[in-house]
Amino acid sequence: MKLIFLGAPGAGKGTQAEIVCDHLGIPTISTGNCLREAVKNGTELGIRAKSYMDDGHLVPDEIVISIIRDRLQQEDCRKGFILDGFPRTVPQAEALDSMGIMIDKVIDLEVADTEIEKRLSGRRVCEGCGASYHIENKPSQKPGVCDKCGASLVVRKDDQPETIRERLSVYHKQTEPLKQYYTKSGKLIAVEGRGSVDEIAARTLKALEE
Ligand code: AMP
Repeated sequence: MKLIFLGAPGAGKGTQAEIVCDHLGIPTISTGNCLREAVKNGTELGIRAKSYMDDGHLVPDEIVISIIRDRLQQEDCRKGFILDGFPRTVPQAEALDSMGIMIDKVIDLEVADTEIEKRLSGRRVCEGCGASYHIENKPSQKPGVCDKCGASLVVRKDDQPETIRERLSVYHKQTEPLKQYYTKSGKLIAVEGRGSVDEIAARTLKALEE
């Protein structure tokens, strides 16, 4: 299965991708996590990407396309993968097509902007492994500590209120046109993104079986 998880920032793509990748035994590739790792390590790519990310803007297409091109060539992607946060623009989707990658399904997690604002302000991420939590909907067992690797949980710099609004506006302008792109090819499946993590996971897995 080659899957794309589409949706606004904070729609739950990363959380649902984690569940589905365990279920199907395929890796999740998150361009956001790859970019944050590059920023943390101070690589040339990370230095170029940082200011775009901090301002809530998209990193230029050529940077993320090259990350994805390299990552999809790795051995663990042979059986399939979930793309979380890529593509985010029509040129990125076209680049994926021109790599000869045949996507099976595109899951579009639908959540209203007001709910997104609430979710992102309560989100906490692990500094070590990038796992995502929410102070109310998905708390870690020990406050402030990652269940998976024991590193500290922090608020992402781009989860500040004004940056959240900017990211939502960028999503509507640049990413939402992808719904039409994948509807045309008959791959888009809309999934209601409201409710508990388990409820949304049940809907997502059902959509993948259809
Ligand atoms: P995410 O963790 O998916 O919310 O991504 C965090 C930030 O990384 C975004 O706000 C963008 O600045 C950048 N980013 C992640 N994926 C992409 C992409 N496919 N295209 C451009 N920028 C991206």
